[in-house]
Amino acid sequence: MSPTRVLVLNSGSSSVKYQLLDMRGGARLAVGLVERIGEEKSRLKHTPADGGSREWSGSIPDHESALKSVAAELAKDGLGLDSEELAAIGHRVVHGGLRFTEPTVIDDAVLAEIERLIPVAPLHNPANLTGIRTAQGLRPDLPQVAVFDTAFHTTMPESAARYAIDVETADAHRIRRYGFHGTSHAYVSREAARLLGRAPEDVNVIVLHLGNGASASAVRGGRCVDTSMGLTPLEGLVMGTRSGDLDPAVIFHLMRVGGMSADEIDTLLNKRSGLIGLCGDNDMREIRRRVDAGDERARLAFDIYIHRLKKYIGAYYAVLGRVDAVVFTAGVGENAAAVREAAVAGLEGLGLAVDGELNAGRGDGARLVSPADARVAVAVVPTDEEMEIATQTYALVKESGNPG
Ligand code: AMP
Repeated sequence: MSPTRVLVLNSGSSSVKYQLLDMRGGARLAVGLVERIGEEKSRLKHTPADGGSREWSGSIPDHESALKSVAAELAKDGLGLDSEELAAIGHRVVHGGLRFTEPTVIDDAVLAEIERLIPVAPLHNPANLTGIRTAQGLRPDLPQVAVFDTAFHTTMPESAARYAIDVETADAHRIRRYGFHGTSHAYVSREAARLLGRAPEDVNVIVLHLGNGASASAVRGGRCVDTSMGLTPLEGLVMGTRSGDLDPAVIFHLMRVGGMSADEIDTLLNKRSGLIGLCGDNDMREIRRRVDAGDERARLAFDIYIHRLKKYIGAYYAVLGRVDAVVFTAGVGENAAAVREAAVAGLEGLGLAVDGELNAGRGDGARLVSPADARVAVAVVPTDEEMEIATQTYALVKESGNPG
């Protein structure tokens, strides 16, 4: 029998998240995380399918040691990386530029291209590359597949992807809107179509991926036609710690009048803005608790967050012309009923509303939260980026006749 397991790796600068999935039925065999790589107190948390988590703390100096520790944990459950059941390793790669529109089997040319894209993804692509190279070292015989965060958005028309700046300058520096969270938008828009009982080609969906990072996308017939993140993940919605949209002149002003450097402003806009900049908290649970307790700063942060969200719903409604569903996903989108309710409040004229009881209810899978007779469905669809990466990876290695 050909191998059916896929290891999914999401390598950050100081962390590696992983999942081992069996594509024959989709079982999650193990889930884990290595954090604070390179620090004295690194941490590994490994959870096998039976749920009995194991945690370990100590020094993990680099990604190679991290992956070796992961391999050792997997081996304890009889799931070692040397297993013949492993078909491939699927890597999340944040930036694939314009070249990578599909998941891609990694070879030297692919590695070189991911490296060439470092200037537009300086935080993410180097870490992704390290993860890939380390995994290649551990299992050189195994197909390694890159699944790009940007790929789903490469179908955006030029009218949505280009900034209105001098074309030569933009092209010389590869400045355009690439979009991110694409794996999530792809998965969630497809699952939304399934929830509506229709083919993805037949439905138009607005996906709101609201996690600590947040992005919206307009998906027409299964293809992305616009998304809120741009050259980097900074553009668009108000996020946990990122500002989202702002007048670019704010940056010149901070440089000229505020005396701040480019790096300081980068940190301000990416790490000290958004909800945390507005009210000191970036966790929506805490913000809602404060709002309910009458905290004015938390209330204003929440209102700004919702105002921006509404603007994007309206904009993408206009971009799509006809909308079949507005879909909420990720940590905030899946859990914060108050955000969903506030985001569509007053949009009855667009056919949008939530049913109070359905919206407040909890549920594990994809579910509708709009009234039964709603013109536009409002849905909650839990995202599953690891499953999507594994599915795409497995499909690709099977298609190329090269699993394991
Ligand atoms: P993610 O990036 O998708 O993991 O989302 C993380 C964010 O989801 C956290 O920072 C919280 O703001 C939010 N979140 C998680 N659980 C809840 C919850 N039960 N209610 C409201 N927000 C939540």
